[in-house]
Amino acid sequence: MNYGKIDIEIIEKLIEICGEGDVIYKDEEKLENYACDESGKIFCNPPEVVVKPENTGEVSKIMKLANVYHIPVTPRGAGSGLAGAAIPLYGGIVISMEKMNRILEIDKTNRVAVVEPGVITNDLCRKVEEEGLYYAGYPMSVGLSSIGGNVATNAGGSKVIKYGSTRKHVLGAEVVLPTGEVLNLGGKRRKETWGYDLLDLLIGSEGTLCIFTKLILNLLPLPKGTVDLLVPFRNIEEAIEAVKALFLEAKVLPTAIEFMDKTSVDIASQFLNFSLPLQGNAQAFLIIQIEERSKKELEEAYEKVGKSCLKNKALDVFVADNKTNSEKIWRIRRELTEALRNKDPFVSLSGDIIVPVSEIPIMLKKIKEVEKKYSVKTATIGHMGDGNLHPALFKPKDVSPEDWISLSEKIVEELIEEAIKLGGSGSGEHGVGLLKRKTFLKTKPSTEIRIMREIKRIFDPNMILNPGKVI
Ligand SMILES: Cc1cc2nc3c(=O)[nH]c(=O)nc-3n(C[C@H](O)[C@H](O)[C@H](O)COP(=O)(O)OP(=O)(O)OC[C@H]3O[C@@H](n4cnc5c(N)ncnc54)[C@H](O)[C@@H]3O)c2cc1C
Repeated sequence: MNYGKIDIEIIEKLIEICGEGDVIYKDEEKLENYACDESGKIFCNPPEVVVKPENTGEVSKIMKLANVYHIPVTPRGAGSGLAGAAIPLYGGIVISMEKMNRILEIDKTNRVAVVEPGVITNDLCRKVEEEGLYYAGYPMSVGLSSIGGNVATNAGGSKVIKYGSTRKHVLGAEVVLPTGEVLNLGGKRRKETWGYDLLDLLIGSEGTLCIFTKLILNLLPLPKGTVDLLVPFRNIEEAIEAVKALFLEAKVLPTAIEFMDKTSVDIASQFLNFSLPLQGNAQAFLIIQIEERSKKELEEAYEKVGKSCLKNKALDVFVADNKTNSEKIWRIRRELTEALRNKDPFVSLSGDIIVPVSEIPIMLKKIKEVEKKYSVKTATIGHMGDGNLHPALFKPKDVSPEDWISLSEKIVEELIEEAIKLGGSGSGEHGVGLLKRKTFLKTKPSTEIRIMREIKRIFDPNMILNPGKVI
């Protein structure tokens, strides 16, 4: 693609739109802050200019300008993505949503929140809790990521099993198209059959079709109580059987069922300098979270879950019914990414495969097979309730960082191909972005790719919005 370059005329026009303080150019150190996301350092590329619009009008004017001069634009939320989707591959403009970070309204009557896209996910969760309400979109990066980024990636996380991924919580959005046009889709209503659902198409489009400038989000009544159980098993097969029994025998739908293998737990414990209760010799751990509307329902539910797990070969059940113990368990899970990077700065974290829950043991066997085949150590965690696995791959000492890029890519591709064979997919929640684009194009049926390319052309005739991502 032949893109226009940023010159002083463009910079002046951007300053006219956003004001001098909200345009970063020439300052290499500051531009470098927008070169990467959390996928690592491999593909980083600094933009030529960063703009920080403060309202929809400014976003629209920036897009109109970029469209006329054919300048690539990469939308950016908080940069916590793990697929390289916010990396400005072709330089150009990064449009950072960090200043559009206001919670505009919590409408109790309609049970919705209206927010700007730069709101940090956890800030919204806390704010609505103060009002006795609950936002159920909850990626493990809840303290890092923005709502706009969550919607653009259709983020998942631990609570998907009960509440669904981000898509389920978005009732409406204001978006700016690559041409600068503004659309309002959906609204404060919970259903609609009124033509093609463009909102649903845009959710998860990874900043390639539009920029979200306002979101209307569904809120739920705040659960009355939460209990977390930590349950160790001798092996993963027994853990899977126990999960099956939770639904069929105990008849409880937990909020979260997270899986960690022993290697992950050991690495996180070492990093955080504490061990989990019951760590012992278990090879597989489940964190089961239960949220209910009353204390009585909560007690009944966690007793049923505990008994069912013990009946199904759990080695023990640790009940964390206070904040300190719960926090200890979840820290192990939440801070694992940092712990893995601390152990190996070259660790590949792009694996985000998803398979039907019944196929998890086969998928985990495949991970062990590639471990042997390529002499690569792995640590696997995942959202067990929905079959989403994150295998981390450690760089072998005798492989150079350059060779590791292609080797780890090859291994991830092999795992994705296996997941697809098992009825799964290449990404459960992190997206295609830049890192998985090649495999995505290789593995998706050509008719689907053709339709997606035609859709992209309709929204973005000059192909300026987040080029080099997804398709
Ligand atoms: C420790 C850790 C744990 C994580 N756990 C999870 C998890 O459990 N579940 C999960 O799904 N992900 C997880 N992630 C990945 C990441 O946090 C999510 O993908 C998140 O949704 C990205 O949000 P962000 O604001 O950081 O977006 P960014 O990384 O800035 O951007 C991601 C994509 O969204 C686009 N984008 C951002 N804002 C907008 C906007 N306003 N309009 C249009 N496009 C936009 C960007 O162009 C890019 O394509 C984790 C990451 C880390 C580091």
